[in-house]
Amino acid sequence: MPNRMLFRPTKAMINLDAIKDNVKALNNYLGDKTSIIAVVKADGYGHGDVETARAAIEAGAKMVSVATPEEAVKLREFGISEDILVMGPSPVGFAETAKDLSITVAVSGVEWLEEVCLTKEFDHALKVHVKIDSGMGRYGVRDAESLNAIINFAKKSKQVIVDGVFTHYSCADMDQCKTTDEQYERFMELVELFPEKPRLVHASNSAAALLYPDYRLDAVRFGIGLYGIAPSEFVQQKLPFSLKRALSLETELAHVKRLEKGGSVSYGATYQSLEDEWIGTLPIGYADGLRRGLRGQEVLIGGMRVPIVGTICMDQCMVKLPGEMPVGEKVVLLGKQGNEEINMEEWAERLDTIPYEIAVSLSKRIPRVYG
Ligand SMILES: *Cc1c(COP(=O)(O)O)cnc(C)c1O
Repeated sequence: MPNRMLFRPTKAMINLDAIKDNVKALNNYLGDKTSIIAVVKADGYGHGDVETARAAIEAGAKMVSVATPEEAVKLREFGISEDILVMGPSPVGFAETAKDLSITVAVSGVEWLEEVCLTKEFDHALKVHVKIDSGMGRYGVRDAESLNAIINFAKKSKQVIVDGVFTHYSCADMDQCKTTDEQYERFMELVELFPEKPRLVHASNSAAALLYPDYRLDAVRFGIGLYGIAPSEFVQQKLPFSLKRALSLETELAHVKRLEKGGSVSYGATYQSLEDEWIGTLPIGYADGLRRGLRGQEVLIGGMRVPIVGTICMDQCMVKLPGEMPVGEKVVLLGKQGNEEINMEEWAERLDTIPYEIAVSLSKRIPRVYG
């Protein structure tokens, strides 16, 4: 989407070359037999779904996947012509649109197919990937009987093409986890039930794609790694190649003042200066995704780490400067400046969450600027 005219200096810079490099590096690592499905759900993990999908495809991803029907429809509307898989549950009511837009849906029970085919007589077939629950306990067929019902239905029906079968790991990003091996084995056992192997058998998320070369199969679903973020600290330590971070979050000092000793900052007056201090105001707040729990988190100004002080407001927050600084001075909240770097993992630790949640919490009010 064209960049709108920006006045507020708060923006997320998205480096599409980093995304392309991550895809190319993974492609090299995987070899020719395994293709990449770029996972661009949740607006491309906050990086922009359409832009990210285009970059990933240009760099060699063969397919894209999302979580919801609406996300898939949006990609088609913006001209993404590659195969798109909706990985999560699709309501029966989406089947016709999916077929018309050639969107592939995940199926986890024969009832869904029966209902779809009862309600509609399609002129050409709907593409589906059968989702197998090999231990995640979320979405998918869990037993042979239910899977056979799907297989038998598809064999008889001209309205459905089983183009793929997939599963999802629960623990691939963790140390010493037998669950991944068990899930892989259970998955392969069920895949054996297909009289003919579907075109795409896939299981790996980013963590498994990076750490389990034996479980590559026909494709991997590359999500968080696409954006240059490791799924966990454990995976970060074991990366077979380095990932390039695509997002940085920046703003500028909007206001600078000298606060006399004992002066207070922000709602609740919970911060009081112990001496005369220089306080900078940043035009970013919790409505942008800078959660109130990030009070105390540092930002980078002039290559230095500087703490957020006082309560974070909806639209602004304050930092304690090492001295007087000019209004307009660049501030990096996520990313590099000089020798310092602040990443989503650092925010995640402070907020007791994972970098995934940080990435998707940067709100729509922050413009994404592509370069
Ligand atoms: C989100 C998701 C992925 C991508 O996971 P990452 O850890 O971000 O690589 C893959 N498969 C399914 C089913 C998902 O929901």
